[in-house]
Amino acid sequence: MTSLPDLTRYDAVLFDLDGVITPTAEVHMHAWRSMFEQLFADWRIAPPYTDSDYFDHLDGKKRYDGVAALLRSRDVEVPWGEPDDAPELDTVCGIGNRKNVVFSRVLREEGIQAYPGTMRVLDILDAAGVPAAVVSSSKNAEDVLAAAGIRHRFGVVMDGVVAEREHLPSKPAPDVFLVAAQMAGVEPSRTAAVEDAISGVQSAAAGAFALVVGVDRGAGAAALQDAGAHVVVSDLAEFADAHDASSGPGAS
Ligand SMILES: [Mg+2]
Repeated sequence: MTSLPDLTRYDAVLFDLDGVITPTAEVHMHAWRSMFEQLFADWRIAPPYTDSDYFDHLDGKKRYDGVAALLRSRDVEVPWGEPDDAPELDTVCGIGNRKNVVFSRVLREEGIQAYPGTMRVLDILDAAGVPAAVVSSSKNAEDVLAAAGIRHRFGVVMDGVVAEREHLPSKPAPDVFLVAAQMAGVEPSRTAAVEDAISGVQSAAAGAFALVVGVDRGAGAAALQDAGAHVVVSDLAEFADAHDASSGPGAS
């Protein structure tokens, strides 16, 4: 077995958020379910919403496209509306914005736990004085980090809000990773990046980061490698285990 690279040897480690630091997909699934169960009941739409609707119509799609696809599956059509529609409006955009309100409420009420393996790696980096940063496409990144109680762990948070303000193209373009490195004052050639999505791995690889780690939460190890990951793990606990084994009693 080839040993994993030592993450404490890099000048910084940049982490994607959803699927790398937190299991955010579960909160999105919950929010979609709550929102559509209510809407289907109010509008007497049948058959009722199920979790397979999430995978068939919502997962991986832009929010408004997902709303339109799911309603279409029930032969329901509403006007598209505008992105700044109020969440009470029964337009595709209004319903999509309603989901975001429910997402924030679920996050507030139930909180979210970071992956234990990622927390162990953050502790190891912290002890070694290696800064960690977040590079996420999400506009909810600050809320998610706060709900998980880990915002203070990251000096730099490059998220969808900052990217929009700075007019940065989204992943797979390398810009968000490159600007995050710049904000953290580190060189990509001495920095590691960790991603679970194909487009995210492509983004970090295009930025020529010294190490691109793929975390396989379902994308598949081969696909992550093809996208440019130097190493693929199923959970960051593998890095923590390797670190503990090499720094434990008797290690030279
Ligand atoms: Mg992700």
